[in-house]
Amino acid sequence: MLVQRSLTVLNRAPYNTVPVITVSKEDYLKAILEAESEGERVISATLAHWLRVSPPAVTMAVRRLKKDGLVRVNPDGRVRLTAAGRKIARKLTTRHHLIERMLSEIFGMEWYKVHDEAERLEHAVSPDFEARLLAKLGRGVACPHGNMTEVENPASRRRRGLVLLAQAEPGQNFEVSGIYERDRRLLEFLEQRAIRPGAKLHVVHRNYDNTLTLATGAGNVFLGLSAAERVWVRAAGKNAVAKS
Ligand SMILES: [Zn+2]
Ligand SMILES: [Zn+2]
Repeated sequence: MLVQRSLTVLNRAPYNTVPVITVSKEDYLKAILEAESEGERVISATLAHWLRVSPPAVTMAVRRLKKDGLVRVNPDGRVRLTAAGRKIARKLTTRHHLIERMLSEIFGMEWYKVHDEAERLEHAVSPDFEARLLAKLGRGVACPHGNMTEVENPASRRRRGLVLLAQAEPGQNFEVSGIYERDRRLLEFLEQRAIRPGAKLHVVHRNYDNTLTLATGAGNVFLGLSAAERVWVRAAGKNAVAKS
């Protein structure tokens, strides 16, 4: 499906028309916004990696986005959203979160599945349906991964009192706040270890190889740095970790 999406970039809209935002362009804009929020410097290679498309496909898409005034490319190759591009990306992100919440809150879909499903559905939602979703679900609530609608960067998360699990102090209790949601395998890996939004955990020990020994609802588990760097936690009280 990703291959198909990258190919739609090639379908150029006729000249002298109002630019029509295709699915691919939307995906690019959203990926740039999300990569920025993860604190990543967005260059073509970042986008190729994030969207799992080839570098030439990215080059072509970025050229189109630039022509439409949706991105700027700095001399050092860094891709930045313009105000117009950011507006579209924000809209999509809001819609993505609403759909994730619909799947979770109305249909009871598991938290680790909703991102992929929302990626498919978000392109099919009409403004009318989106307004109804918003009226039903309300604003200002985190998505099932614990992430806020407004795309946050590491600095703004730290201002909210969050720390990366990778940097969490051993001997302390924490509550899982937000989880990087773009990697389904990571989410399932964490779910198997009872590391999910809202879950309580205790950091038992930081080991010599930088893995963490954690007490979670699944018992004592080990977590490597690459996973621990994808989980934001907040300090929690003294209450014991409940088995779930
Ligand atoms: Zn998502
Ligand atoms: Zn989410």
